[in-house]
Amino acid sequence: MAENLGNESVKSQIQRALRTSASSGDLQSVARLADGLADIDGMDDHGWTALMLAARNGHDKVVKLLLEKGCDHTLLNKAGQTALAIAEFWHHPAVAHLLSQRTQGAHSSGSSSNVVNFFGLSPLDRCSHKRTDELWLKERLRDQSTTLLLFSHSSPYVSWSKERKCEVCRFRYSQVEFLFEKPESEQPITVFLGVEDVTVPQSRQTSITGPASSGNDPGPDHPAWFAVDVGDIPPEWLREVQPNAELLSERNYLALMSVADNEAGIIGQARALLSWHDRYKFCPTCGGEMRIEEAGYKHTCQNSECRSLKGIHNTSYPRVDPVAIMAVVHPDGNQLLLGRKKQFPRNMYSCLAGFMEPGESVEDACRREVLEESGIRVGHVTYHSSQPWPMPSQLMIGCLGYAVSTAITVDTEELEDARWFERRDVAAALQAGLATGGTGSQSGGRQSLLLPPRQAIAHQLIKAWVGMTANL
Ligand SMILES: [Zn+2]
Repeated sequence: MAENLGNESVKSQIQRALRTSASSGDLQSVARLADGLADIDGMDDHGWTALMLAARNGHDKVVKLLLEKGCDHTLLNKAGQTALAIAEFWHHPAVAHLLSQRTQGAHSSGSSSNVVNFFGLSPLDRCSHKRTDELWLKERLRDQSTTLLLFSHSSPYVSWSKERKCEVCRFRYSQVEFLFEKPESEQPITVFLGVEDVTVPQSRQTSITGPASSGNDPGPDHPAWFAVDVGDIPPEWLREVQPNAELLSERNYLALMSVADNEAGIIGQARALLSWHDRYKFCPTCGGEMRIEEAGYKHTCQNSECRSLKGIHNTSYPRVDPVAIMAVVHPDGNQLLLGRKKQFPRNMYSCLAGFMEPGESVEDACRREVLEESGIRVGHVTYHSSQPWPMPSQLMIGCLGYAVSTAITVDTEELEDARWFERRDVAAALQAGLATGGTGSQSGGRQSLLLPPRQAIAHQLIKAWVGMTANL
């Protein structure tokens, strides 16, 4: 215990020294202290990070270095200010330029620094050109370096860490060979997910050794990943191989939000594809039997007379269901429209959202949903970022909408409540979530606003708005 406290104290001393060095512009000390520090974004009592302190004092070289070291430029201090807002207020144009490049990069398409949301980051190269190479796929499936994720229908096999975090079980072909010892027609549905690639960040426990080459055969130093639907086999059979393996139950799917960030994209891809296979068993055009092709990415009707075999048919390909989700800004610029559904935790409010309809633009879907659910009219709409959401296969399209009316009429079929929230209350809820690792706080016995956790795109949209409108 004493040793732990000692380690904790050393860590906080290093973080304090980093903030002091950043504040005074001591580039060499910042470089030395930032290396190997687990939490480079450590905050002082007022929520100020090293990056904010360097920005406050105009130390552009320190800001550049901290950004290179991976500092989070989107964090907010307790007053709801980002490092950029601080640099602008204190008239440090060089620093503001460096930070605004990051901020603009995060909001414009085509930039390498786009916002990447949870479930949107995968360390795999999908290698779509290998999906028709059946011999190669067979060999890779059996390779000892290959990882198999097992599902029963669309529920993954998982285990739980000591901290009750969900970890998706990884199997080797040799451990579950019995699943494949069946005639061709009874083989489990198997989907090729891709091969490990160094050009994207590493996943937990994954060793990655060189770039995967797109267009060519990825070499043996790029382990492949597959997802397999084992159907209704007894879970005990798999527990003989991995004693802690258990099926994630339908009502506990949100536990997937506790998997490692870099693993989330792989699980999302696997779950969306296997859910499609699980729900679409027969040809939607003629009701005939279908054959799975292209390593799990295509259904082909086996009825040679079927219309789906002529022309272009979206029934052949995996579903992606677009959902518009939006942070709606009050005409005064200082309030945000948030709503809550009955099933949300107490005091939690989030962005409004709804499925897009056929023939509708993203902008019109935002305007329609907000009008239907809250009675608020939205004018200008801007795109922020997107998020695959494997529950089972939505694509959340995150936007900021600018309201042109203010009187709320809640559609109680859809929502329990919708309100305008002042910027300072939203910033405080975000800050409280950062401080507690949760999504809100209690103050003076009265529970304050709770926001969705960082893994939800709604959190990122709300955070973007607070960061954009920060002023001192
Ligand atoms: Zn058909």
